[in-house]
Amino acid sequence: MGCNIAIDGPAGAGKSTIAKLIAKKKGYIYVDTGAMYRAMALYFTELGIGADEQDKISAAAPGADVTITYENGEQIVWLNGKNVNGLIRTEAVGKMASSSSANKDVRKKLVELQQQLAKKESVVMDGRDIGTCVLPDADVKVYLTADSHVRAVRRYEELRAKGQECDLDVIEKDIIERDYQDMHRALSPLRQAEDAVLIDSSDMSIEQVADAVIGMCKS
Ligand code: C5P
Repeated sequence: MGCNIAIDGPAGAGKSTIAKLIAKKKGYIYVDTGAMYRAMALYFTELGIGADEQDKISAAAPGADVTITYENGEQIVWLNGKNVNGLIRTEAVGKMASSSSANKDVRKKLVELQQQLAKKESVVMDGRDIGTCVLPDADVKVYLTADSHVRAVRRYEELRAKGQECDLDVIEKDIIERDYQDMHRALSPLRQAEDAVLIDSSDMSIEQVADAVIGMCKS
């Protein structure tokens, strides 16, 4: 097994941007676990299942085949044979993912997939429970956060750049609600692992954060 880097933190803290940059600089594989929870959420939404229908989510979970491939370093998430990268980056899917990710059958399935990926290669993996549950023995663990307003502005700019209409106040409210839900669920809640290094990126550039994390790697 190579070197594994675990990056956890709340929504919009810059985890995926940082993780992608580190993966590029170190030649590691980037694993975006949020995208897997989003693909499952998309599946449940397409079946007409509501965010609070946990029994239906459990019953439907085995029917969602989520796999990951890489093309030019880019992670592609496949849901039952279909590339869903273009469908999962909406606030609605993010909200549904936050509800369906609290389900034990959903978590079991995706954690197994994530652990398999990390066995084969050196990975930079980002999510909510990587340092605490998925890769408890990761060589480097980071808990990346930023002020909620800064995070909302970043998410707003990201969505606008993709041409999506959005409202900054609504995004900030959604982010706060989603963090609360992710931090207070019974299974693998979002929290800083005891051996994780806390980085507040509110006043840091992407390069500064990436270099700080790379500096923690021994190899
Ligand atoms: O990181 P992203 O915003 O794409 O994640 C969407 C949702 O998926 C999160 O709000 C969280 O509920 C869930 N998630 C999780 N565990 C992970 C990654 C994401 O529960 N490792």
